[in-house]
Amino acid sequence: MGDTIKLHDKKFKIMIPAAEIDRAVEAVAQRINRDYADKETPLFLGILNGSFMFMSDLIKKIEFQNELSFVKLASYEGTESSGHVRSLIGLNNSIEGRHVIIVEDIVDTGESIDHMIRDLETRKPASIEVCTLFFKPGSYRKERPIKYRAMEIGNEFIVGYGLDYDQLGRSLKDIYVVTE
Ligand code: 5GP
Ligand code: MG
Repeated sequence: MGDTIKLHDKKFKIMIPAAEIDRAVEAVAQRINRDYADKETPLFLGILNGSFMFMSDLIKKIEFQNELSFVKLASYEGTESSGHVRSLIGLNNSIEGRHVIIVEDIVDTGESIDHMIRDLETRKPASIEVCTLFFKPGSYRKERPIKYRAMEIGNEFIVGYGLDYDQLGRSLKDIYVVTE
């Protein structure tokens, strides 16, 4: 892949090369290794589809015993006037008493992650933290602090390393930003 690519109707240029992503993943993994060293078998919970590549690289750098699972936030039209309802699917085992680390590709306004955390809290885990590959501080609208942020970016739209533009671009090893 070259330095600029076209996905659907938009052009993207390279913004963060793979080596730089790897350094950021390494740094966040080391923080998690320190913070969870004495916790009993933490559970990494990836949010599909966007987090699959981040999870794959992150988990290889984790030095304590862990479990790993993926969930999906499914959007569907509710039957009542409340409109859009988003439910968590794929979480089949109990997380009661477990230390949960949510692994997300990007936290933008914080709506998705906030919804996810509120759902998980009803299942009584011992703790919940979020580890996101990207954080957009200029867009985040929630009070809840996001503890582990591998990288921070502005309000630009990015693709690659799991993130898509209308399903394209997930397999790119570098991060690209939209240009036009
Ligand atoms: P939030 O609910 O925090 O506003 O948005 C989170 C979701 O929006 C992410 O999980 C992701 O699916 C999508 N998103 C937000 N910003 C970007 C971006 O720059 N690129 C891509 N590909 N998706 C984004
Ligand atoms: Mg996502």
